Amino acid sequence: MERRNFVKLSSLAIIANPTSMIRDLLSSQNAETEMPVIFIGHGSPMNAIEKNRYSDSWFALGTKIPKPKAILTISAHWETAGTKVMANPMPETIHDFGGFPQALFDAQYPAPGKPELAAEVAKYLHDYEAITDLSWGLDHGTWSILKPMFPEAEIPVIQLSLDYRKSPDQHYEMSRLLQILRKKGVLILGSGNIVHNLGLLDWRNPNNAFDWATEFNSTVVSAVKDGNHQKLIHFNKLGKIAQLSVPSAEHYLPMLYILAALKPNEQVKFFNESPAMGSLYMTSFISA
Ligand code: ZN
Repeated sequence: MERRNFVKLSSLAIIANPTSMIRDLLSSQNAETEMPVIFIGHGSPMNAIEKNRYSDSWFALGTKIPKPKAILTISAHWETAGTKVMANPMPETIHDFGGFPQALFDAQYPAPGKPELAAEVAKYLHDYEAITDLSWGLDHGTWSILKPMFPEAEIPVIQLSLDYRKSPDQHYEMSRLLQILRKKGVLILGSGNIVHNLGLLDWRNPNNAFDWATEFNSTVVSAVKDGNHQKLIHFNKLGKIAQLSVPSAEHYLPMLYILAALKPNEQVKFFNESPAMGSLYMTSFISA
């Protein structure tokens, strides 16, 4: 056989069995573009403009993960009747807090929105009656993290609201439908706090935790590591430590969204697993 023919034939042999080759190509493409999912304990809005261990960790994350094409956040600070997807092309920076220095009110996060992505997300969540919304912008659950993480504010951001009429189970089930966005280069970011009881803050102990807060945080961390999502969905069954740590669900629920967007058996890495002022935990995690 002539050498030229031999080359041709061997090429044909590859083409004759294209399935594995295409599969390999696709999987390497996915490995490049599939985004992680992240849950972040946001704590004080001041983290947006202060240089501290939390804002430093968010900045570091922004340099480590693949650059997202867009960001979808689920923030503790947007609760609505029904599920809404923020579709403003130029979302306002919302200063939804009081009693902080003027510098925080002056802070802006001028990232663009992405109406077409908002519409796509609403379509995915059609069975849950999700609709697009023009009344919201970026609340501090979103921008206080993104300002240190992506300071250039050039990546489009949309938000998904927390429907206060839905059960934790429904939030979780609905968020499973968002998994597909990861392969489209969308970073899904949940922003809340696993332990969040502002009524019991202990200002004299900035770096300590009450025993119940530590116990609840550890229980949640173990269940996340074990992949025991049912236990986390039904956190109300965890008794007194849950009642004290989650007096209202809005800061806890964004974590369920992130768990639901994990792939089967996907592991996570924890960071910022530290208490603040007795009744807060900054515990955060990223899919690994
Ligand atoms: Zn908050």
